[in-house]
Amino acid sequence: MSADATFRFAPSPTGLLHLGHAYSALFAWDQACAAGGRFLLRIEDIDTTRVRPEYEAAIYDDLAWLGLAWEEPVLRQSDHGATYRRALDHLTFLGLTYFCFKTRSELAQDLLSAPHGPQSAYVGAPLSPDEEAEKLASGAPYAVRLSLSKAKAFLGAQWTELGFEERGLGPDGETGWIGARPELHGDIVLARKALGLAYHLCVVVDDARQGVTEVTRGCDLQDATHIQVVLQALLGLPRPTYRHHGLLMGEDGKRLAKRNGAPALRDLRLAGAPVSDVRALIAQRVGVGCSPR
Ligand code: GLU
Repeated sequence: MSADATFRFAPSPTGLLHLGHAYSALFAWDQACAAGGRFLLRIEDIDTTRVRPEYEAAIYDDLAWLGLAWEEPVLRQSDHGATYRRALDHLTFLGLTYFCFKTRSELAQDLLSAPHGPQSAYVGAPLSPDEEAEKLASGAPYAVRLSLSKAKAFLGAQWTELGFEERGLGPDGETGWIGARPELHGDIVLARKALGLAYHLCVVVDDARQGVTEVTRGCDLQDATHIQVVLQALLGLPRPTYRHHGLLMGEDGKRLAKRNGAPALRDLRLAGAPVSDVRALIAQRVGVGCSPR
């Protein structure tokens, strides 16, 4: 791997980091160190309804305690709304987005009564310009969605070649090339009237402008990669390689989370636990790699 290899850890300050986050952070950090590469921290704080400043402060304290050092300034997504908005405007300019005014229950109903049987991903259709203008004028809440069918037509032959290099997942790593399955997601939400921009768009924009070459994250996010590569292709952004790691398991055999006993890093730190204990706890709890979909 080249010395330009750039890794990142991208937590959301919507709660205290726990042991699972420590695994993700150390996974990225250890590989960045081994590669002699860069390590970046990104604060994914666009969901302003759930973000709290004290959680962000705890992230810095917890990661410093774990022995991590990151480049400054830290990128905070909430400072860059205009950048994501430009990417959204570009997709709209290409004719690839549409306004969706469906309520939660209408969406659920549509998924249940899909023509080929119930489905998990929503695929909708733009309204006529008149209907759309009427809805907008009425002040109705909306989401801006990416039309997968239009994205497919726009990308032409490139569509069938979409995928990503996976260097993680299995216990032996190096899974290889995985063809993208964007249909797992359907027409994703890019932005919402009330809440602003959504996760996928911000992540691909940031990974590109921060020069991230290696995305490391839990395999619960591997599904996200199937749609993020579509956004990268549409926006002409470079595609990093991906290393999705296995998840930590709780004693109940389920994914370790706060509700089944994942200790908060802040509590371990304040209790004076040595960092070697954190690494030992992680080693005890690493589940087997996840299988690609
Ligand atoms: N902010 C996301 C999370 O905390 C991680 C996003 C990513 O690694 O792509 O789950």
